[in-house]
Amino acid sequence: MTLQFNTPVAQTDPLIADALNSEKQRQQDQIELIASENIVSRAVLDVLGHEMTNKTLEGYPGNRFHGGGRFVDVVEQAAIDRAKALFHCNYANVQPHSGSQANLAVFFLLLKPGDKVLSLDLAAGGHLSHGLKANLSGRWFEPHHYGVDPETEVIDYDALEQQAITLQPKLLIAGGSAYPREIDFARMGQIAKKVGAWFHVDMAHIAGLVAGGAHPSPFPHADIVTCTTTKTLRGPRGGLILTNNEDWFKRLQSAVFPGVQGSIHTQVLAAKAVCLGEAMTDAFKAYAHQIKANADALASTLAARGIRIVSGGTDTHIVLLDLSSMGLTGKRAEVVLERANITANKNAIPNDSPRPPEWVGLRLGASAATTRGMKEAEFAQLGEIIADLIDAEAADNAAALEAVVTKAADKVATLCAAFPAYSG
Ligand SMILES: *Cc1c(COP(=O)(O)O)cnc(C)c1O
Repeated sequence: MTLQFNTPVAQTDPLIADALNSEKQRQQDQIELIASENIVSRAVLDVLGHEMTNKTLEGYPGNRFHGGGRFVDVVEQAAIDRAKALFHCNYANVQPHSGSQANLAVFFLLLKPGDKVLSLDLAAGGHLSHGLKANLSGRWFEPHHYGVDPETEVIDYDALEQQAITLQPKLLIAGGSAYPREIDFARMGQIAKKVGAWFHVDMAHIAGLVAGGAHPSPFPHADIVTCTTTKTLRGPRGGLILTNNEDWFKRLQSAVFPGVQGSIHTQVLAAKAVCLGEAMTDAFKAYAHQIKANADALASTLAARGIRIVSGGTDTHIVLLDLSSMGLTGKRAEVVLERANITANKNAIPNDSPRPPEWVGLRLGASAATTRGMKEAEFAQLGEIIADLIDAEAADNAAALEAVVTKAADKVATLCAAFPAYSG
């Protein structure tokens, strides 16, 4: 095949071009309620396709292993400065390729194989990179988990403190991917200090809420903070590591490179800088608060329709449903929602089955649809549509279900047309 440098992909590779076009149309036609997703700005999108992707570079600004890096230096320094200003900390590493890579670098920096790590249980909303047995973090270190109070489904900080005193972990981790409530970073920081553990906050899901002042900041309580730049922060796929510890920072730089990564994803770095710049604006603050208001509207509508909300509500973008009393699994709800062009995902809820096909939770998130401009009224309407679909699925009447799905899909199409993902 000859290289066709200036020929669009539609002509050079129709298979991939078709898939890309279909994906773009899918995003327009479906309402995205997967809590880890968002819709990036046109600026971020454009930067991700920039020629900066051609530049290979290792090392850090002013200390590179290759020549020709002066414009990437500008970009990386801007990303660092913006991350520090936005999250109120003294040091930032903006190179991690993802949230999992960022966490791996933190483990590499702070732990030796076999060290004890105490993190939120996966069924209570934790993340696989915090010690799942199938993940390197669970294989090379010794993971232990804290849970939530069985009544309130909120982290039981007293029980966590007792567990930490007994266990004496080297690292205490806060944060997860399906925990809908505000996290008390001050309290967890005190617990870590009391038992001589380092306190790591993984704010992957809530970084945008923290940036916009809609969730308390992990600083000054955390020793080290990681996040993704996707999710609520609404940027490209990538990670950040933040700290105030000057001694660590030098070792952290080498824990990221050459510790767990090689060269920088240069164009992603530029997109991170743009997203961090966007997150510093008043418009983003309004966005972060709107996410919470929308999630709250969604949760109250669903609760009013008799669907149980884990922990009784939300303080974030996440609304976690417990479908057990309706006799449904999360998977069945996920499938019926997608038939009406709403995407969400099955999820474990506290004390759920360890087997994903049996999970009774459904996780919803407000960030992407909020980016499209939907507000409380639309989220209340979405709540009604979702409740209709779940009720119909639970009723086991095939003909009635078809009618509900058709009607729901019509309403979703109207919403999608009124709130385009990208205009023009
Ligand atoms: C999403 C997430 C990650 C992983 O991020 P990737 O970029 O998918 O690797 C890590 N930690 C938490 C808490 C997350 O929610």
